[in-house]
Amino acid sequence: MKNAGDVETGLSSFEEFLGELYHKYKSLRDGTVANYIPELAKVNPELFSICIVTADGRVYEVGDRTHLFTIQSISKVLVYGLALEDRGRDYMLTRVGVEPTGDAFNAIILDELSKRPYNPMVNAGAIATTSLIKGTGATERLNRLLDMYRRYVGHDVFVDISVFTSERSTGHRNRAMAHLMLNFGMIDVHIEEALDLYFQQCAVMVNCRDLAVMAATLANRGINPITGEKAVDSTYIKDILSVMYTCGMYNFAGEWAYKIGIPAKSGVSGGIIAVIPGYMGIAVFSPLLDSRGNSVRGVKVCEELSHKFGLHMFDCVQRNLESIPES
Ligand code: GLN
Repeated sequence: MKNAGDVETGLSSFEEFLGELYHKYKSLRDGTVANYIPELAKVNPELFSICIVTADGRVYEVGDRTHLFTIQSISKVLVYGLALEDRGRDYMLTRVGVEPTGDAFNAIILDELSKRPYNPMVNAGAIATTSLIKGTGATERLNRLLDMYRRYVGHDVFVDISVFTSERSTGHRNRAMAHLMLNFGMIDVHIEEALDLYFQQCAVMVNCRDLAVMAATLANRGINPITGEKAVDSTYIKDILSVMYTCGMYNFAGEWAYKIGIPAKSGVSGGIIAVIPGYMGIAVFSPLLDSRGNSVRGVKVCEELSHKFGLHMFDCVQRNLESIPES
């Protein structure tokens, strides 16, 4: 098995292009860091990194590549995959919908008729999804999540205790959502345990390369292209990518799909992953966020990559994946 660190990353023209993107957007200082989770407000807003991992395991990266940050909502993608494996597609659909909301990620809303949370990429749906992870107790469930992350990134990961406790003690909106779902019987009574696991999954530490390897794993039918290990059952890749495409960028999801056209997911710590099925995973990290909670530089970088290489899924004119160079 190869480690991510063993992969040759000699400077190529593609990496030079990433370097140009990095320098172009490094001076962009629009947006603000997330501060509703007190520990996140302490981040250095200058941090910026871009990493691309191809479906055959080549790595291209620039910027603050080793900086660790909490994964936040990007975790929702992976945990949805595990819940699908645990419960199956039909059962999951009875508990969590697949409709975009057009509302903020932390909106306290459920579908009027079904009482389901709208989708697994917004907080309510993610909390419901996490509550469905199997295990005989809190520790086993956490260990199953950590093991899943390990398969995706190729090494052990850890929960940042400060961010976890920061969110646990201030996450009143998330607690309110859990109570609302309990009221409608959409989540079982152990809501504090489900919330703890949700806060823990969000507080897992990753760097930009880890995110890109995760995205590349999704691009590679659930097999980590660096280690060769299966991270998720390939049956569920289409479910995961569909909800990323329609719901992954919150109330920007429609515009993202229209302009950039790639399944993607963002998190409030500043990460974005984007998946080009069969080709590559893209990750950008920059903590300055727009009003919807998406990384400002991250959106710009993905937009440029999409235009440059014709990555939009429905762009039959520009789509030019063969132009992505060899290392
Ligand atoms: N842990 C964060 C929350 O629940 C995740 C939100 C996000 O990244 N959009 O509010």
